[in-house]
Amino acid sequence: MVRLIFLGAPGAGKGTQAQTLAQRQHIPHISTGDILRQAVAQQTELGQKAQAYMDQGELVPDQLILDLVQERLKQSDAAAGWILDGFPRTVTQATFLDELLLRMSQICNYVVNFEVPDDILIGRLLGRGRKDDTEEVIRHRLDVYRQQTAPLIDFYRERQQLVSINGNQPIEQVNHQLDQIVQKNSAP
Ligand code: AMP
Repeated sequence: MVRLIFLGAPGAGKGTQAQTLAQRQHIPHISTGDILRQAVAQQTELGQKAQAYMDQGELVPDQLILDLVQERLKQSDAAAGWILDGFPRTVTQATFLDELLLRMSQICNYVVNFEVPDDILIGRLLGRGRKDDTEEVIRHRLDVYRQQTAPLIDFYRERQQLVSINGNQPIEQVNHQLDQIVQKNSAP
């Protein structure tokens, strides 16, 4: 059973890697950013509440995200495994996830941390052209990442769940390393 959390700064390549690995493993790729962008596009109640935070590069308040993740993990396809991309992003979210998984009798195999130098991140994000990818918002998102999300690296390292991967190499090479992590560590 493959259950992974992908951790890393915006632009680290988590989304691309999560998408292809999830396809290879036939498990859902759960991206809170994608779910929120869809909610914004459809102007649902969640989307309307989340939009201003996203446009400014701020994190959406935990309560909105926690409900969303709980609902998504309870859907039937997630019983086969999952890759969480972009969640958890705060210690509060990580603690909530611990409790949720405990209640669901699930265990996350590994937290994969994508390491990429800042100058490369900024270049990649500027090239992406998403609505929240202006230089000012990008810099703010990196600050938010450092302040609120990076503490999760130690949080998971102390629990020996962390595997770090060099995200600054060709996509195929990252793919290959991820496959090796999955093969070695996913218990049946
Ligand atoms: P992403 O696509 O993961 O970079 O997420 C895009 C934006 O969605 C972020 O800048 C946040 O505003 C919001 N977002 C996504 N995931 C989370 C989360 N776990 N907690 C709070 N905000 C989130």
